[in-house]
Amino acid sequence: MREAVHHTEPAIEELYRHYQSYDLVVDSRQVSRPSQTLFIALTGERTDGHHFIPELYAQGVRHFVVRTPPAQQLNAEASFTVVDDPLHTLQALAAFHRRQFPALPVLAITGSNGKTIVKDWLSQLLAATFRVCASPRSYNSQIGVALSVWQLTAAHEIGIFEAGISEAGEMDQLRMIIQPTCGLLTNIGTAHLQNFAGPARHLGEKLSLFAEVEWLILPTDEVNALARTRELYSSVDVCPIDAESTVQQVLPSSATLDGVYRKNAGLVIAAARALGLPEIEITSGVPLLRPLTGRLEQREGRDGGPVINDSYSNDFSALAAALQFAETQNPYDRLTLILGTVQPLPGLEHRLETLLNGRVDRLVLVGAAHAKLAERMPDAILYGSLDELLRELPTCDFSQQTVLVKGASYERFDRIADALSRQLHRTQLRIDLSALRHNLRLYRSLLPAQCKLLVMAKASAYGSGALPVAQVLQDAGVDYLAVAYPEEGHALRRGGIQLPILVLNAAAYSLAGMVADRLEPVIHNLPQFEQASRLGLRMHLELDTGMGRLGFTPKQLVDLVPRLQSPLVASLFTHLAASEDDRHDAFTLQQLAAFDEAYRAYLAGSDPQTSGKVQRHVLNSNGIGRFPQATYEMVRLGIGLYGIGDAGQARQLQPALELTATISSISERDGGMSIGYGRRGHIPAAGARIAVLSIGYADGLPRASGEGRFAAWIRGHLAPTVGTICMDMCMVDVSGVPDARVGEEVTIFSAAHPVELLADAVGTIPYEILTGIGSRVHRIYVGE
Ligand SMILES: *Cc1c(COP(=O)(O)O)cnc(C)c1O
Repeated sequence: MREAVHHTEPAIEELYRHYQSYDLVVDSRQVSRPSQTLFIALTGERTDGHHFIPELYAQGVRHFVVRTPPAQQLNAEASFTVVDDPLHTLQALAAFHRRQFPALPVLAITGSNGKTIVKDWLSQLLAATFRVCASPRSYNSQIGVALSVWQLTAAHEIGIFEAGISEAGEMDQLRMIIQPTCGLLTNIGTAHLQNFAGPARHLGEKLSLFAEVEWLILPTDEVNALARTRELYSSVDVCPIDAESTVQQVLPSSATLDGVYRKNAGLVIAAARALGLPEIEITSGVPLLRPLTGRLEQREGRDGGPVINDSYSNDFSALAAALQFAETQNPYDRLTLILGTVQPLPGLEHRLETLLNGRVDRLVLVGAAHAKLAERMPDAILYGSLDELLRELPTCDFSQQTVLVKGASYERFDRIADALSRQLHRTQLRIDLSALRHNLRLYRSLLPAQCKLLVMAKASAYGSGALPVAQVLQDAGVDYLAVAYPEEGHALRRGGIQLPILVLNAAAYSLAGMVADRLEPVIHNLPQFEQASRLGLRMHLELDTGMGRLGFTPKQLVDLVPRLQSPLVASLFTHLAASEDDRHDAFTLQQLAAFDEAYRAYLAGSDPQTSGKVQRHVLNSNGIGRFPQATYEMVRLGIGLYGIGDAGQARQLQPALELTATISSISERDGGMSIGYGRRGHIPAAGARIAVLSIGYADGLPRASGEGRFAAWIRGHLAPTVGTICMDMCMVDVSGVPDARVGEEVTIFSAAHPVELLADAVGTIPYEILTGIGSRVHRIYVGE
């Protein structure tokens, strides 16, 4: 066959007949059976699938759905189906596929939070009795839903698909693909609300998923959703569930789940019953549900490199996704994979070989089931069992590499991750990378499309760890990074960050060292400008319009305009002193006016022949929402990335950081006793239960938060500090938390227990709390 290009849009039915047994792939890194792959070239915000066609062709892929066929012929048998909208074709194929199973019960889940965990738990429970097809991970988008539904086969007895929307009009599309017979709504929140005309529109849009279902489960407290569904869809059997009392019957104590997890578990139980799961499977299965597992976790490894642990789901697509994540978080370009059981699939060995070849440098297989794969991949090392590997681990060297640990949760691969980590779960700062991405998208949605985004990675990315955060930012298509000092920039370059990096405070003597790493200094005075010009460094002029810190005053700048000309000047910027505070808005507007005037003077004095195109940037996180007239060509996002510190966006942001410690001991103390240094803690007459926590002021819990001024959060209760905070530990009163136990995790701050509580308690701001978190606190990165 010659290269075939279908120029008239083919009927979906015809395409379906041709490709129904193929894998649909939209990401070139996800190919597992090249000859049985139909690649659909999608055009995203920053990537275009069409660019990957030659690479895919080289991998052996021959079938493509494209908007425009490649200009250059690929010379051999390849088939291109040309359509106006490849995404639409993907969705239409999936919808057509779904129609092949008219009798199948299919549950659609949506809601603002908790849909992935509800879907995962429910499919885990149902799997005891039924063959379930569920969306992998959180495949809930316009693309993810289509790929999920494509996985249905005649062998399945139940389908469970998750639907998420970010823009008006999307839900109808998802309903046509999923064609649900029943529904579950976790809750209605405000995420993405800015893309809908208002809360009522948003609610109606979400509910349209359920227009044709037989029954719908939703929490009793979602009163608006309840009323609207009854009003809109009279044929739907609406089943309000009191989640807490439902879970109470099955799981009386909060030993394994608490708070919002219990609510999710209540919905899961109700849905499992409605889908016909025997009660015995519910009572035996629910106590095994665990929170916080469905995610990748990255820790600092024993030997220096990152250790990424993903011991949640063991299907092939989860492995492909974990691999992809590991590649973006790999500072060494050397990847080790420790692989446990992978769910059986036709041709699994062949798929694994294709997936891993050339991407994994060192492959460690665990389990006799991998014997065949080990034969195919002669460089792999095979261990018969987990214990066998654990015995050898102490003598293995994992320096200068990223280690990905991937096995099913029942295999207890977390033991490998623990053995390879620098520190066990004692005191941790968890950074939720999915929340960072969400927050980035939120700020982007507030900016004009062509406005560039610079993100501040100074002070170890606000305490979160500069390199892992910078890698996420680079991957997410951020335009610029900024650091405070040159060393921070050098460290990012050593870690493989390619983005342009602006350096706020670079002394003249440090400029020469910045050339090789292409760091871009901020210029505050003439000698610095002259030195940077001699060195050929791209640079940024800072104007001091009222911050009173660094930079040329407007008058200095105007006087120096003729001498500050260079094609190397990339931008002119200023920093707002009080962008968050409306009491100072008049002052802020003065800053903006002074900036505009200085910029005009600079341009007027520029020689268009020799000066470059100078860009402007002024706004920090709070400024972005409050002064939309001043976005200019770029903005500088800082604290808002972490989902905190920006009151204007607080409802839409997702707090991304969680600081936890563990309980080292608990003791009953008698009334009248004193606790801690200086005898500043007092036990009341009735006595108290006092817990020692593994966090002190050296870890970043300020000493001023002692003596009851702050409370840790344990199982949904407040446990106030008692006595002074010590260097490495502190004491809290857990008299009000009867089931608190030694070894359990305690929250210092999180989304549920905001960092502002701690900052306010000690009279500071979240910035100081974050950047004060000690270097021995273990940073763990979680996220898809
Ligand atoms: C830190 C900093 C920012 C970011 O400020 P946030 O309040 O964290 O958004 C922006 N610009 C400059 C010059 C900074 O120093």
